[in-house]
Amino acid sequence: MVLPQAPVLYVKIEVKRVRADTIAAIATATAPAGIGVVRISGSAACEVADSVFSAVSGKKIAELDGYNAAFGCVTTESGIIDEAVALRFKAPHSYTGEDVVELSCHGGPYIMRRVLRAVLDAGARLAEAGEFTRRAFENGKLDLTSAEAVMDLIGAQNEQSHLAALSAKEGAMFRSVCKIRDIFVNCAADLAAWVDFPDEDVPAVDNESLKTRLSEAISQLDRLISTAEQGKILKDGVKTVIVGKPNVGKSTIMNLLSKQDMSIVTDMPGTTRDAIEDTVNVGGVMLRLADTAGIRSTDDPVEAIGVELALKHLSSAALIIAVFDLSRPLDSDDFAILEKIKGRSAVILLNKADLEPKFEPDDLKTDIESIAISAKHDSADNIESVIAKAVGLDKLDASGAIIANERQLDCARRSLRAALDAVKAIEVGFTLDAVGVCIDDALAALAELTGECVSQSVVDDVFSRFCVGK
Ligand code: GDP
Repeated sequence: MVLPQAPVLYVKIEVKRVRADTIAAIATATAPAGIGVVRISGSAACEVADSVFSAVSGKKIAELDGYNAAFGCVTTESGIIDEAVALRFKAPHSYTGEDVVELSCHGGPYIMRRVLRAVLDAGARLAEAGEFTRRAFENGKLDLTSAEAVMDLIGAQNEQSHLAALSAKEGAMFRSVCKIRDIFVNCAADLAAWVDFPDEDVPAVDNESLKTRLSEAISQLDRLISTAEQGKILKDGVKTVIVGKPNVGKSTIMNLLSKQDMSIVTDMPGTTRDAIEDTVNVGGVMLRLADTAGIRSTDDPVEAIGVELALKHLSSAALIIAVFDLSRPLDSDDFAILEKIKGRSAVILLNKADLEPKFEPDDLKTDIESIAISAKHDSADNIESVIAKAVGLDKLDASGAIIANERQLDCARRSLRAALDAVKAIEVGFTLDAVGVCIDDALAALAELTGECVSQSVVDDVFSRFCVGK
């Protein structure tokens, strides 16, 4: 007998609703620039472009092959707006999967607005935020996780967030989800065969084998979900605070990391009163760094305000860089700081290692990793790699599948819950129908993650975060 195919419900694409209209927008930033691009996409892209653009060669854009360009002018009834290069992409070999024309002119905001106006007057409609990428998604050029990665790619500010967005754009998340999905499909196919053809010669479903396969899917989902924290770090950076007693070298470290004199460095304790903030790149990851006033017990009311502010920063930071002066004996203020960072994600820098040490690292009596440095003599690179290593930033693997946002995390968690329910259903002896329902739920959550089966409102929400022209 022929076994039935795997259930196809999960591949139903509900959002395939390709709009017939042709859209246009300025695809480059609206600031004076060498070049600016107006992008047109849709079945009438060539027609619209041909009514505003005349090529020096006399050729119509509609006559050009895909990936071919023509030089000419964008003209309206009132005259020439600018010289332009028109680049043609033929459906389906374009970003959106539709016919696309890009008009590149001089990138002045006034010129760009005039060219766009001319294109709109010729029959195109102004694109909504993210509509070009939305069309790419709806035309099957990208899955939803790759589409989301487009905005992350544009917003990337450092090596690791760039690598993560690029990998996601190229389908790292999609591929990982497909591997998990295949396990569920395989289980669902066995169950469907058994449920649908009970009288045929279909081997009984082996509960243990089903559980083993589901457990594999569960551990892959667990692994995926555990990347969410990493995804947040890559996207938003890490809220980091530098704390320590006055005069231990906090401002010197801040200035080294930010590569400029942000904080005042003096021999006078208590110079930094307000927190000084900057964004720095450590190990390819963005640290949102705050240098704070020295923390010590004080009777000075002004200094006390600075100490209070420093403690506030300390309590809300995700990462603490605690600085101690190796050239002075430890005192009660040092131990008070150690108490405050207990159990937190932190690294201890034992500064002024160029001077004679007055205590041993073990004297700190803490589990937090400590490293001796000299902010005065070490290079910024050296201190950066010390921090990156101590807090595990050097182990971040941005090239793998990483959960990039709350939507993806929610889908993965729902899939995991359904898979766990399926295992429980087997263990308590529910019917295989009930197990099948749980597996279908697990599949549905994954199909929502990749956008293969997703509601219109979710798609609206995803693309509303895009910029116009992308
Ligand atoms: P903060 O009060 O903790 O911000 O400390 P500062 O960064 O203002 O530094 C206090 C003093 O220590 C300044 O005179 C610095 O030049 C000096 N200092 C900072 N780091 C080092 C170091 O690694 N070695 C030595 N010898 N002096 C340092």
